[in-house]
Amino acid sequence: MLLKSQRAAQALPAWLHAKSVAQVRAGWVDWTNRSASVSQSVIYSCPFVPAEWVAAHGLRPCRAAPERSACLPGRGLPEGLCAFAGQWLLELRRRQGRALAAVLTTVCDQMRRLGDLAEPECDLPVFVLHVPHTWQSPTARRIYADELRRLGRFLVRLGGREPSRSELADTIRRFDDARRELLGLRGNLSPRAFAQALADFAREPLDCDLQAVSVKSTIDNRQSSIPLALLGGPIMRGDEWIYDEVDELGGRIVLDVTETGELGLPGPIDRRRLAEDPLEELVTAYLDHIPHPFRRPNTEFYVFLARELVGRGVQGVLFRRYVWCDTWHGELARLREWAEKLVPGRPIPVVDLDCGQSGGDRGRILQRVQAMIETLQQTPGA
Ligand code: SF4
Repeated sequence: MLLKSQRAAQALPAWLHAKSVAQVRAGWVDWTNRSASVSQSVIYSCPFVPAEWVAAHGLRPCRAAPERSACLPGRGLPEGLCAFAGQWLLELRRRQGRALAAVLTTVCDQMRRLGDLAEPECDLPVFVLHVPHTWQSPTARRIYADELRRLGRFLVRLGGREPSRSELADTIRRFDDARRELLGLRGNLSPRAFAQALADFAREPLDCDLQAVSVKSTIDNRQSSIPLALLGGPIMRGDEWIYDEVDELGGRIVLDVTETGELGLPGPIDRRRLAEDPLEELVTAYLDHIPHPFRRPNTEFYVFLARELVGRGVQGVLFRRYVWCDTWHGELARLREWAEKLVPGRPIPVVDLDCGQSGGDRGRILQRVQAMIETLQQTPGA
């Protein structure tokens, strides 16, 4: 028997059928007001889990960002987990009985390990989605598509329903519209507000109030600020101070290439291909376009970075990684060498901000950020 919340979730929200930007915003808000009874979500943390695939199955996607303050050493966390994965385990424990299920992926060893730990530790169905590290072959695409189908069957067992081809295409199109809307707001929002808007959309896309986000205009165009990029692992709740503190120190994060920022966004949807084969287009948008450095080869990560660093006039990179995270740590030396030569005659420095488990490293991190900004302020032509 389906729970009331599950039955309610099976009706696709009205905004998915809206036609214009204004209608997308209005339909979204309208649906939000009527959907309070739908409370249980399918939670996940990885950008390679397509929210629209979960929504098309009539369930609520939620890319949950764990809270940093809850992650204290000695809270029963296994050794060797990065702070983010550790927080996620705590988040899963907290959500027992409140979430329908959790989806983990295999993008790194830490998350694989979490997949092994989660189900016995937490009274919550857990699905592990295998994301191929290679991505340029038809085999990799087929594996990812098969994994999405397997996830679909899991969602149906939870009380969801298999979408028709047109329902899937429509859901994908509406999510694509909403993401374009959000990206279009970047120039009107402060770095923190933009990061918050992306996080809110990822956490509760079906509850995200696009109208409310669009009327916020918090940008402060201080011409004297040093344009910086923030690069690295996901930002947890409670760690957003980095955006404000960089502003305070005389910098400005004009490019957010964290996993919770622009790095984690799928590519734009091709409407013609969408009509022909919506699942294939979903695979293209996620597997081919998210330039995560875990992919092999990860040349697209550098193609993406080169375009955005140069395009936004970035003068320095804040490389924020979690201790124990091999994926990002392994990229640091190469990135430094690469950034030094990217713009002839203007090396782009990369400062390493390694974050531990407890979050007690704020002072040390800010010292490094301040040193970089002061150096750039004194660099002629920077
Ligand atoms: S921060 Fe690194 S180790 Fe931790 S979950 Fe993300 S990719 Fe994996």
